[in-house]
Amino acid sequence: MSFEFGPAHVRRIAPYQAGRPISEVAREFGLDEANIVKLASNENPLGMPESSRRAIEAALADLGRYPDSNGFELKAAIAAKYDVPMDWITLGNGSNDILELAAHALVAPGESIVYSQYSFAVYPLATQGVGARGIEVPSLNYGHDIPAMGRAIEADTKLVFIANPNNPTGTFVPAAELEAFLAQVPPQVVVVLDEAYNEYLAAELQYDSIAWVRRYPNLLVSRTMSKAYGLAGLRVGFAIAQPQLTDLLNRVRQPFNVNSLAQAAAIAALNDREFLERSAQINAAGYRQLTAGFDALGLEYVPSYGNFVLVKVGADDGAGSRVNLALLKQGIIVRPVNGYGLPQWLRISIGLPEENAAFLTALKQALAA
Ligand SMILES: *Cc1c(COP(=O)(O)O)cnc(C)c1O
Repeated sequence: MSFEFGPAHVRRIAPYQAGRPISEVAREFGLDEANIVKLASNENPLGMPESSRRAIEAALADLGRYPDSNGFELKAAIAAKYDVPMDWITLGNGSNDILELAAHALVAPGESIVYSQYSFAVYPLATQGVGARGIEVPSLNYGHDIPAMGRAIEADTKLVFIANPNNPTGTFVPAAELEAFLAQVPPQVVVVLDEAYNEYLAAELQYDSIAWVRRYPNLLVSRTMSKAYGLAGLRVGFAIAQPQLTDLLNRVRQPFNVNSLAQAAAIAALNDREFLERSAQINAAGYRQLTAGFDALGLEYVPSYGNFVLVKVGADDGAGSRVNLALLKQGIIVRPVNGYGLPQWLRISIGLPEENAAFLTALKQALAA
C-alpha cells in the first residue's frame, strides 16, 4: 500500500488497554465465570446501588424516546448537591468524555497539554486525539510534582490535567499545594482537576474544590459516577466550571451523550448517602487487608488514597506480566501497568473481603511459581 489512512497524530496513538472482561478470561483460560475475581478496573465491588436499580426500572418505559439532551433533572441534582448554578455543569458519557471534551474545546492542533508521568492514560490519549503536543512532567515519588508542572507550562500550553487522587499510583496532592498551584497558573491555561476518587478520601483530607471553581474561571473539576457510586457500566461523569468553560465544552458535546437510564440512575445514586458511606467503609477495610497482605509478603506498594493499590511484584521488567499471567490462570484479573512504564508493578482494585483474600492467596502462589 503506498499510502496510509488518517493523519499521523492518530496513527501514533497506542490504544487504551482496559481491564480484561470476566467472560474473555473465562474463555481463554477455560475457567468458570462464577469463580473469577476481577480487581482490574477500579469498579465498586458492591455493584450498583439498589436505588439506581429502581430508578432504571422506572425509566425503562421511556426508552423509545431520546434522552433529555440538557439533562435537566440530573443537573438539578448536581447543582443542589454542590450548590452551583446549573449552567456550571457539563454532563459526560463517563468522565472520560469530559476529559476529551476539554481537549477538543480548548486545544488546537500543535498546542500543548501538560500532565504527569504515571498519571491517567486518557490524558495522553486526549492530547494525541486533538493533534496536540503532550508535555509529560517526571513524577515525584510516583505522584504529581506540582511545582514542576507549573514550570513546565509553555507559551502554547492550553490545558493541564491533574488527577487527585492519581490513577494508577493512588497518590494524593494535599489541598494547600493545589491551591498554591491554581494561584500561579497563567489565567489563560485551563486546569482540569480530575477527582474520580474524591469520595474515597478520609474526612480530614477532603477539600472544597468547588470553592476554587468560584474563584478561578480557568478551573474545571471533573467527577465520575463510575467509581464510588458504582455505575461504571452506565457511563456518567460531569464537570463543574464557570459558564465560559461550560459553554465551550457543551458546543463540542454530542447532544445525547448521556443516555436516559444513566441519567435516572445517577440522580438516585447522587442522593444515596448510605451507599456512598458503605462503599468508603468497605474500601478502607479492603485497603488495610491488602496492604497487610503485601507487608506479610514483603512487597513494596505505593500508599493509596483511591480504591486500588499499586504493588511491586518483582525486580525485573518481566515481573508484572509474569505475575499477571500466573494470577489469570488462577482466575484473578488485575491490571498490568506496563503501558504506564511500570513493568514491575500491578494495580489491584480493592474488592470485597473474600475477593481480596482470594487475590492474596493467588498472589502468594504466583510469586512462588
Ligand atoms: C476511572 C477514571 C476516570 C474515568 O472514569 P469514567 O468511567 O470515564 O467516568 C477518570 N479519571 C481517572 C483518574 C480515573 O481513574
